[in-house]
Amino acid sequence: MTRTLILGAGFGGLTVATELRRLLGSEHEIVLVDRRPDFLMGLRKLWALVGLGSLEEGSRSRGTLNQPGLRFLEEEILAIDPAGRAGQTGSGWIAADHLVVALGAEPRPDLVPGLAEHAHNVWDQAAVPGLTDALSQLEEGRLAIVIAGVPYTCPPAPYECAMLLDDHLRELGLRERIQLVVTTIQPLLMPNAGAAGSEWLGQQLDARQIEHFTGRKVERVEGDRVIYGDGELAFDLLIGVPPHRPPPVVAQSGLTGEGVWVTVDPATLRTSHDHVYAIGDVTMIKLANGLALPKAGVMAELEGRIVAAAIAAEIRGEDPPAAFDGQGFCFMEMGKTSATLIEGDFFAAPEPRIQLRDVSEAHAQEKHSFEAERLERWFGAG
Ligand SMILES: Cc1cc2nc3c(=O)[nH]c(=O)nc-3n(C[C@H](O)[C@H](O)[C@H](O)COP(=O)(O)OP(=O)(O)OC[C@H]3O[C@@H](n4cnc5c(N)ncnc54)[C@H](O)[C@@H]3O)c2cc1C
Repeated sequence: MTRTLILGAGFGGLTVATELRRLLGSEHEIVLVDRRPDFLMGLRKLWALVGLGSLEEGSRSRGTLNQPGLRFLEEEILAIDPAGRAGQTGSGWIAADHLVVALGAEPRPDLVPGLAEHAHNVWDQAAVPGLTDALSQLEEGRLAIVIAGVPYTCPPAPYECAMLLDDHLRELGLRERIQLVVTTIQPLLMPNAGAAGSEWLGQQLDARQIEHFTGRKVERVEGDRVIYGDGELAFDLLIGVPPHRPPPVVAQSGLTGEGVWVTVDPATLRTSHDHVYAIGDVTMIKLANGLALPKAGVMAELEGRIVAAAIAAEIRGEDPPAAFDGQGFCFMEMGKTSATLIEGDFFAAPEPRIQLRDVSEAHAQEKHSFEAERLERWFGAG
């Protein structure tokens, strides 16, 4: 019996496991490892913050994935041996015929002095209750959202957060007394959406009286002030989006080579080791304009489909699947009941060809369906 070892059971790892199971049945063994017992999408953290449902409603137990031919292990990956296609947990080494590294990216507030101490990190599930509590006590002043480093997962999410908070504070009758500000280290609000997309987003923020500033590099955070290279911003409540890095076990494995992220063949998601793939946030795929492919769940999922199809084809002795084409989409929330659809061809040259569709309630509903459909596909109904 052949075996695939999947490290990480997030968007990417769950897709590979589900697709492999569908394509090969229980005759092929899948071992899926993750340190956390439950899965939760990032979007839930923002929804929980503004009262659009709870974290629990979007959580699913990975233990329910266990079935003949598919084993979920709730363990920490301590080491990866790409040459041996193996991963080490506290119970020992697990070797496989195919290895898929889908360990994601970790928020690293420690890389910006004072960020961990003074900012709420809504990118970390554990920080959501504390921020919700702090928000409920805020009655006036300045609420700042600061993108303090790159890359970070889900490029539109800080702006979604601002627009959801705008709606939320209006509902509470507090918006007149609470100023909302977003600052980013990047030269454009959303570089992957280009100058036109970023300008459009700026207009959307202006229409909601959300102040926004680009090119603002955070040097440090002190008490109630963000210190930039060229000025400072006082705040009453701070949401900090930290820079992200791969989990240390990935860097220690040698898979990142001389760089920070795992580099892969963008068409096949293969690493430099035979039968070893890497997908999702842990990778760095450079686009024609020099920017990186956005770190988004939908990308990890699309890549996971390609990898599962490639492994299944190889095991069955069939031709490899079509290449990953960089076509992706995401629904960007513009408030509690409206969203736009961002979609396009990220591999286009010389720039990604990205379209921003109409802002509508239908797109907001599709975002909720996006979560529901995947939870059902991966964990079953109920
Ligand atoms: C606020 C917010 C909103 C978002 N909204 C969207 C959205 O609307 N649409 C979208 O497409 N994307 C969204 N994203 C981004 C999305 O969550 C990520 O891009 C996606 O999860 C990446 O998938 P992945 O499989 O690469 O990694 P992950 O889903 O992060 O999975 C990696 C897994 O590896 C595990 N792991 C890491 N290290 C170890 C270890 N040493 N041992 C064991 N297990 C380990 C982790 O526990 C984790 O479960 C959002 C993110 C945030 C924070």
